[in-house]
Amino acid sequence: AKDTLLYLDGVSVSFDGFRAINNLSLVLQLGEMRAIIGPNGAGKTTMMDIITGKTRPDSGEVYFNGTVDLTGHDEAAIAMLGIGRKFQKPTVFESHTVEDNLVLALSGPRSALSALFHRQSQDEADRIDEILYTIRLFDRRHWLAANLSHGQKQWLEIGMLLAQDPKLLLVDEPVAGMTDAETAETAKLLRDIARTRSVIVVEHDMHFVRELGVKVTCLHEGSVLAEGSLDHVSNDQRVIEVYLGR
Ligand code: ADP
Repeated sequence: AKDTLLYLDGVSVSFDGFRAINNLSLVLQLGEMRAIIGPNGAGKTTMMDIITGKTRPDSGEVYFNGTVDLTGHDEAAIAMLGIGRKFQKPTVFESHTVEDNLVLALSGPRSALSALFHRQSQDEADRIDEILYTIRLFDRRHWLAANLSHGQKQWLEIGMLLAQDPKLLLVDEPVAGMTDAETAETAKLLRDIARTRSVIVVEHDMHFVRELGVKVTCLHEGSVLAEGSLDHVSNDQRVIEVYLGR
């Protein structure tokens, strides 16, 4: 369909004969945010690895942006196509300011040094202002990243990914270790981002998933066990059974 951004169909991958992903299908619309839940070992990380090209599926199709077959591309190429991934541990440059972290992310590694020593164009300055505003760090642009809270560092790293202008952002447990206030703000922040981009959030914190207020996909044994609103999914008897471990 025209509005589909990401399309996985019948995807499987095995490690040493163990099927981590088993006939997985997923459709994500342009501008949609989706929460992925599921018990440990359900295949959430492996699914993200497949989307970003870190792991190549044994079978199945992965299409991005209509006709681009991701299974034929490596990680670097997939990042260039517009898929950004945020891992749990933030990797900001602690000894640089918030703003310079974004300048560095905007320029890419090759021209990083020159980016710090040259004047920004008006376009770049506007982009950085917009990102600072989105990640709730506009008033802290001159702070050293080292002095940010854990949650603010996570936001800065999301900002660094936004500098790459991804069409799809993959986020792994963004609120782990955050305060309640930061968690609530992160839900709003991601909803803001999802106004112009698609987002996949892997999350264990069900309160946070509720705050996101988006469609939920529950994985189990490498397949989709249930999909729909959080209320629908959390009332599904099979979902209850896998979470209670019966
Ligand atoms: P989740 O992120 O939902 O906890 P994973 O995708 O990390 O699940 O793992 C799914 C299953 O695949 C687990 O049983 C895990 O042990 C296995 N697995 C994942 N990656 C590898 C790997 N590189 N080699 C062997 N087994 C793996």
